[in-house]
Formats: sequence, structure tokens, C-alpha cells
Amino acid sequence: MRTPLIVGNWKMNKTASEAAVFVREFLQRYTAPPSADVVVAPPFTALETVRTLLGPSSWIGLGAQNLHWESQGAFTGEVSGPMLRDLGCSFVIVGHSERRLLFGDKDADVQKKVRAALTQRLRPILCVGESLAEREADLTESIITDQLSAALDRLSAQDLATVTIAYEPVWAIGTGRAATTEQAVTVHRSIRTFLAKGWSQDAADATRILYGGSVTPQNAASLLEADGIDGALVGGACLKTDSFATIIAAARNTSPH
Ligand code: PEP
Repeated sequence: MRTPLIVGNWKMNKTASEAAVFVREFLQRYTAPPSADVVVAPPFTALETVRTLLGPSSWIGLGAQNLHWESQGAFTGEVSGPMLRDLGCSFVIVGHSERRLLFGDKDADVQKKVRAALTQRLRPILCVGESLAEREADLTESIITDQLSAALDRLSAQDLATVTIAYEPVWAIGTGRAATTEQAVTVHRSIRTFLAKGWSQDAADATRILYGGSVTPQNAASLLEADGIDGALVGGACLKTDSFATIIAAARNTSPH
């Protein structure tokens, strides 16, 4: 049984003060969901504020949006796994398409980041997804297989068990054009088949595969109800407490897959 997981990726939004307003409002209005896991991934600069306001035993987990693969050193502007752990993070997003497209993260970098996260006991949320041109050229499955093969290369089953995969078609991110449930289910199924072949059916069945790309309060329920969609990575719609809470409620109302 996979408990649904909803992750809010704040991207480069909210100062630490704005983050505090958001978290206070959210905690005042919403109580713990019994059957969905929830993670927020604020910018690095707001992690400490969010951690403090959530408190040590919060039902909301803390995640970062990126990390460097080295633990320390001469890497100006970068943030490492030990730094994130020290700030209370337990999750980290790796390989987001904005990192790949805008900041040049290559598959080999993504692999190093996954390994660095695991070394620091951070749970990677590994993003994979095809561009529109790749989808139109019927390359979706091979692109995703290549991204997964590189990022998860030679990972033990034990390590894989702490990885979450997020299928995020690039053409759906921030565009208001979400994948149809059918499109998402097809890709999720092929990701699970890839995991079963590379590790085992049990490992594949235990791995949460999220959908991300223009998830909104309006489309969340139909996506989250679908077979094999174990939650959502939410960008724009996680920035307002109401819309984030509605998406969490949609996950909570679906039975674990
Ligand atoms: C994302 O950035 O991971 C994302 C899914 O963004 P949005 O929900 O805004 O499309």
C-alpha cells in the first residue's frame, strides 16, 4: 500500500517573512491529514523559518529544491546535503526540469545528487519528464527510461525504497495544460515496469510515483484517483493555502493504491 504524497514546490517564491505568514495561516486553518503525507519545499532562505514554525513533530515534512553533490568545499552559491539535513530537511527534489533546462543539470549530475542525498539520509524526489517535441516524436518512454537509468544507476533496493519519482512532463509545468489522466497513467505504468525489471516487482510496487505539471484544485481529484498515481508535485497551486489544502484533501479522499 502506498500512502499518497503531496509535495509543494515553492520554487523561487516567498521571502522568509512571507513563508511565515503562509505557514501560520495553513496551520491555523488545517489539521493533520490521516492518510496523506505532505511535504513543503520552500527556497533555501525560508527553510529555517518554516522548520521553526512547523515544529519538531509536524505532520508536514520539510524538503529542499536542490542540493550539491559534494558535502562541502569551494562551490560558491551551492548548498550541500549536510547543510539541508542540519536545517531539518528530510526530502530533496532532484532533477527538476527547471534545473535541467535553465541551469544545465545533466543526467550525470542528477545521479550524483541522488547519491549525495541518500548518503545524507535525505529522501530524493527524482523528477523525470519529456518535452513537447519529444512527446510528439513518440520518444516519451525512451527519454524517461534514459533519465531513470542514469539517475538510479546501480542503486540498491534498500536505497531505491527511499526514492520517490515524480513524472513531470515539461510541457505541463507552469503552462496550465496538465497531462490527461490517461497520459499520466500510461507513463506511470511504464516507470513501474522499468523499476520491476531493474529491481523487483516488490520494489516497484513500493515506490511512490507522483504526477506533476499544472495540478490544480480542479483537476487534482481525477489525477489522484487514477491507478498508479501516488500523489502530486505541485508548483503554482501550492503557493496559496486554500488551493494547497484542497489538493491535499483530494489525495486524502483517495484510498492508498
Ligand atoms: C513543478 O514545478 O514541479 C510544477 C509541477 O509546477 P506547476 O504545478 O506550476 O506546473
